[in-house]
Amino acid sequence: MFQAGAREAPELLPISMLNALVYCPRRFFYEYAQGEMLVNEHVLAGKVQHERVDAGGLRAAAPGLALRRVYLFSQRLRLAGLADMVEVTAASGDAPPEPRQVTRQADDDEAALDPQAEIVPVEYKKGSAQGGRLNDQVQLCAQGLCLEEQTGRVVAGGYVFSFRTMHRAWVPFTPDLRRQTEEAVARAFALLQRGVLPPPLPASEAKKCRDCSLEPLCLPDEVRALQRN
Ligand code: SF4
Repeated sequence: MFQAGAREAPELLPISMLNALVYCPRRFFYEYAQGEMLVNEHVLAGKVQHERVDAGGLRAAAPGLALRRVYLFSQRLRLAGLADMVEVTAASGDAPPEPRQVTRQADDDEAALDPQAEIVPVEYKKGSAQGGRLNDQVQLCAQGLCLEEQTGRVVAGGYVFSFRTMHRAWVPFTPDLRRQTEEAVARAFALLQRGVLPPPLPASEAKKCRDCSLEPLCLPDEVRALQRN
């Protein structure tokens, strides 16, 4: 049974919604099923910082290419969305590809066709240091799974770039992270199918609520208090 105003389960789920789901299932349901978006200082700062990334485009980065705002999808996982950046680099063995400076505008995509090239998604985040939290890593891994399905190549990992530190951290797509990512997809569709707003996070995770733009709508403290009575 769907609540009033809730959307039906989609054919393809936006990849970014996996981030919301892992952060908080209630936030996911508000944002995706009910279309609720509130802007706080964290959301606004993230939007401003993303403006350059969101401009899109293709650039050469020796040795390789950096493509901004790349559309990704997976028929198997029923996912679709945009990667902030996908880098196509020369193979570098077991070590993560070295960060490089984007230097000049590309006029062809030869590097993208290199059979030895490595494909690396990069996700830009406002404050995620050390590779981000699990919600960021699941979003990034979902991009990797889409890229694997679209290209037929193994995507070993990706980067979470932090606007706060201006550094990026390598996130390997381990079997465990891949499993958690696929479980998040299954949970998202199950929640949408059920159509019921999940309860707030437990008090032990209340710190997340302090950073959540939906706190004034969600009223987690009040709902928890009512649940206790
Ligand atoms: S305020 Fe807390 S419980 Fe409510 S949506 Fe945000 S993170 Fe989830």
